[in-house]
Amino acid sequence: MNRFVAYNMPKIELHCHLDGSMSVDVIRELLAKKGENFEEKELLTMLQAPVDCESLAEYLKCFDTPISCIQTKEGLRIAAEDLAITAAKEQVKYLEVRFAPSFSTAEGLSVRDVIENVQEGLSSAEQKADIYTGIIVCGMRHLDMETNLRMLKDARELYGYGVVGCDMAGDEKAFPNSLYADFFAKAKEYGMPYTIHAGECGDSENVKVAIELGAKRVGHGIAMAGHDDLVQLCADRRIGVEMCPTSNLQTKAIREFADYPIMEFYHAGVPVSVNTDNRTVSGTTCTDEYVRLTDAGMMNERMSERIYRDSVEMSFASDDIKHKLLQSYDELFMI
Ligand SMILES: [Zn+2]
Repeated sequence: MNRFVAYNMPKIELHCHLDGSMSVDVIRELLAKKGENFEEKELLTMLQAPVDCESLAEYLKCFDTPISCIQTKEGLRIAAEDLAITAAKEQVKYLEVRFAPSFSTAEGLSVRDVIENVQEGLSSAEQKADIYTGIIVCGMRHLDMETNLRMLKDARELYGYGVVGCDMAGDEKAFPNSLYADFFAKAKEYGMPYTIHAGECGDSENVKVAIELGAKRVGHGIAMAGHDDLVQLCADRRIGVEMCPTSNLQTKAIREFADYPIMEFYHAGVPVSVNTDNRTVSGTTCTDEYVRLTDAGMMNERMSERIYRDSVEMSFASDDIKHKLLQSYDELFMI
């Protein structure tokens, strides 16, 4: 599959963080509104993780500036709309955008304000471009449980009105998934589906726990490579694995790209999806991820079709949107 094919084929993206995926132009515009002016080059060094990134901690440092730009309703709307329109241009037909509402409340916005304004930006993008979107709200591991539960309670009121599910993000090594049983028990009680970051930098136990906690999908899941029983469990239970190749290389989830386990998971029957994680921090697009995998002999057009269909199935979209996503795909290829 060449870049032209990868760019033009319909794609589904399920793992994309708003703060890590805001374009440099949008960040520059929002910083300028605060009286902070930067050259593009200067901004890029602040926003992009180096290829030889030392650790997840170094990677996470790149989020400070974009997060400072999404403390206002306008900033949230502009950032969300721009992200969805950018994704639509490379034929992403459905995008689940995730973010931590609690990170945007430093200047007085409520969790509800934050989610509603992201939703407004995404709705506006849906009007202007050929894309459907959904919001995943993230609890953050280093925040106290009360803050995370309060966020979830507020987000629940918007479940079905933009919000499609929830997640837990942050330093998985220091705060393993076993600590968040209460959070996901609450999500279950609310009837909200969830994906959990697992096996990105922690060990395979974290993936196992995520599955035990009832995750419909796991973010990354890299650490379960080589653990056949766990891989088979994901395949048997149809638990989606959201793969983010470039990000996984940068955060040292894999040592070198040849080790990337997408073929292992795919051939075992795991429903995998291909995602960017953080478009700006990782300097990537969904197209780039497919091209990178193709160049490494880990992707072809047949695989991409199954990934599209599996990703639709694994998404938290309504049945109506899932149907439309499959129908438009079939019409495009006249199946
Ligand atoms: Zn992530």
